[in-house]
Amino acid sequence: DVDSAATPLPSVSKSNIGCRWSDITSYATKKKVQSWFQLPSGNWELGRIMSTSGIESIISLPDGKILKVNSDSLIPANPDILDGVDDLMQLSFLNEPSVLFNLQYRYNQDMIYTKAGPVLVAINPFKKVSLYGNYYIEAYKNKSIESPHVYAIADTAIREMTRDEVNQSIIISGESGAGKTETAKIAMQYLAALGGGSGIEDEILKTNPILEAFGNAKTLRNDNSSRFGKLIEIHFSETGKISGAKIQTFLLEKSRVVQCAEGERSYHIFYQLCAGAPRALREKLNLKDVDDYKYLKQSNCYSIAGVDDAEQFRIVKEALDVVHVSKEDQESVFAMLAAVLCLGNVSFAMIDNENHVEAVADESLINVAKLIGCDTADLNLALSTRKMRVGNDNIVQKLTLSQAVDTRDALAKSIYACLFEWLVEQINKSLAVGKWRTGRSISILDIYGFESFDRNSFEQFCINYANERLQQHFNRHLFKLEQEEYIQDGIDWAKVDFDDNQDCLTLFEKKPLGLLSLLDEESTFPNGTDFTFANKLKQHLNSNSCFRGEREKAFTVSHFAGEVTYDTTGFLEKNRDLLHLDSIQLLSSCSCHLPQTFASNMLNQSGKPVVGPLHKAGGADSQKLSVATKFKSQLFQLMQRLESTTPHFIRCIKPNNFQSPGSYEQGLVLQQLRCCGVLEVVRISRSGFPTRMSHQKFAKRYGFLLLENVASQDPLSVSVAILHQFNILPEMYQVGYTKLFFRTGQIGALEDTRNHT
Ligand code: ATP
Ligand code: MG
Repeated sequence: DVDSAATPLPSVSKSNIGCRWSDITSYATKKKVQSWFQLPSGNWELGRIMSTSGIESIISLPDGKILKVNSDSLIPANPDILDGVDDLMQLSFLNEPSVLFNLQYRYNQDMIYTKAGPVLVAINPFKKVSLYGNYYIEAYKNKSIESPHVYAIADTAIREMTRDEVNQSIIISGESGAGKTETAKIAMQYLAALGGGSGIEDEILKTNPILEAFGNAKTLRNDNSSRFGKLIEIHFSETGKISGAKIQTFLLEKSRVVQCAEGERSYHIFYQLCAGAPRALREKLNLKDVDDYKYLKQSNCYSIAGVDDAEQFRIVKEALDVVHVSKEDQESVFAMLAAVLCLGNVSFAMIDNENHVEAVADESLINVAKLIGCDTADLNLALSTRKMRVGNDNIVQKLTLSQAVDTRDALAKSIYACLFEWLVEQINKSLAVGKWRTGRSISILDIYGFESFDRNSFEQFCINYANERLQQHFNRHLFKLEQEEYIQDGIDWAKVDFDDNQDCLTLFEKKPLGLLSLLDEESTFPNGTDFTFANKLKQHLNSNSCFRGEREKAFTVSHFAGEVTYDTTGFLEKNRDLLHLDSIQLLSSCSCHLPQTFASNMLNQSGKPVVGPLHKAGGADSQKLSVATKFKSQLFQLMQRLESTTPHFIRCIKPNNFQSPGSYEQGLVLQQLRCCGVLEVVRISRSGFPTRMSHQKFAKRYGFLLLENVASQDPLSVSVAILHQFNILPEMYQVGYTKLFFRTGQIGALEDTRNHT
């Protein structure tokens, strides 16, 4: 009654961060030892080895089934006493199925946090778990609870900031919907509770509903998806009290304002305004219902289950009060939102037989003009014509329908993006109250994780580039920590190699022949197109091992987390992100102060407007930094800041794609563990001596197994005697000043003997 395994087993080499049976044959041949093997579904199952002939093994499954499998496909499982350990490093066998099982074992009991050495893994419960609030804050503060938690991380950050007088950072990453933003808020709560008192902590917490209203949206992956990256630096005075904060945002997805996919929504604030504006405001802004606005209507989704937009609007207004945005400014903000929505309803009519158009002078056009404070005729001109310079003459060119629509949408996107930046600036002014000269800070980074979709565009290109940088920071830090521990304990540890991702970063950053430089170069060429860009990449980068040109306009990059194929469609336009000078001039001529501010910010950022070579006929545009260049310099600044801090890493994991509690998909979790470097941590540790135990503990736990008396009873002598008695090979361990360091699997064998004695 022996079945052979139904399908050939997939290669397990990648899964086996730990060692194979064949590495530990003496142990493996013992009967009835537990082992993982992979089902055709890809899931791992625990079986007991009944017998083994070296090449083949007979295993029994929990349901009584008996299978014959290839011995080399078996992966050792940990002894039962290690079930659900709160640090993966405590596992004797550090392999993928053991890691997955351990996380799942804990997740099933609402223990959503687990350590992987220095990293905190957080699995999204998608339900309320009772792990938060004052009781737990107190407990972590007093150290009466020690299980892994965001609170524990925040607590360590505060302690190390004070003890070492070094700024700290909490770096949170993970896929969309994995729980980064919630985790950041939980960390902020803890910091506010411990460092609060002045009242500024409440202001800091209130920035969350504001930024979420303006920067989050419902997507297919997450009902409250952040469409920007965020770093919040919380300042502490010398007495350990919060004295202020500063927020920096990255790369807001502004295309969402004018375009969003079926079933998704635009930014929350639009729906909140429409649902929650009191009557007077409604009339003043001439607000309509959400489904009267084309920008909101296109995706066919207006509400979010369990969310009351009107109530949220009230919360946002209150929060704006708290961060000192005046009532007048608030009203101007709402007017800008109404103007953006209304711009989407502006339509165009043909005025000649050359496809030229003019905006229809209807209620929408009149309303936009009124909301931003300009003449209807000027608005119409800005939307339907473009001033050009030909030789020494200024001429006015009429736009075609598609050009006019693009101009309109560009204006709407710019107004929204400027509004977002302006708000962040107001918040920062309000939070900068502390006299932060001598104090320290803790920064929390909530930034989009690695993305790989069926179709990847400019946004994924930027996001994945950022992740590549963060990953390098992560690797280098862990590697350093690891090395320090060996050195401290006097271990001779020849440098262990680890995969650096420098090659991939070079592919992006090299000048002049790197992805970013070539993108910028092509973006400034008058005749550059996505197609010429893609060709240029293939021409110059094909010899790079991290790059592969694909058919048509695509190319593939080998990222640390896997290969991603990018489609260059829209790359140049998104990178140029032009707002025509006519539109900027229109804004600067408005009588309302926000459009004026936006225009002057745009002009400041670009130096002075120039007559650029960007269009064949010599169109006048404001010359500005490309989006990729600006992002790169933001990222460099960020890395510089992070490098002067002690980092704490939190990796958020999404256990299923349905935002639902209680479901844990092994494959999905595994892929994220790989992407966010958790398995890399395990691997780095694995390459050295991952298991550590103090001499005392070791002597106490295994001393009774000794067959002969040891002359000296000190823990070190007892430990060494045990090692000899069990013939543990010298290359399998190292004796440090305070601890014993073991290669993977060694403790498992000792445990086994101990349990059978
Ligand atoms: P994105 O990249 O799209 O912004 P994210 O990683 O920031 O995603 P969150 O918005 O933090 O994801 O989390 C998504 C949802 O998961 C939350 O709205 C909440 O419902 C749930 N969630 C996350 N963390 C927790 C938690 N600790 N307890 C309960 N629910 C949580
Ligand atoms: Mg988020």
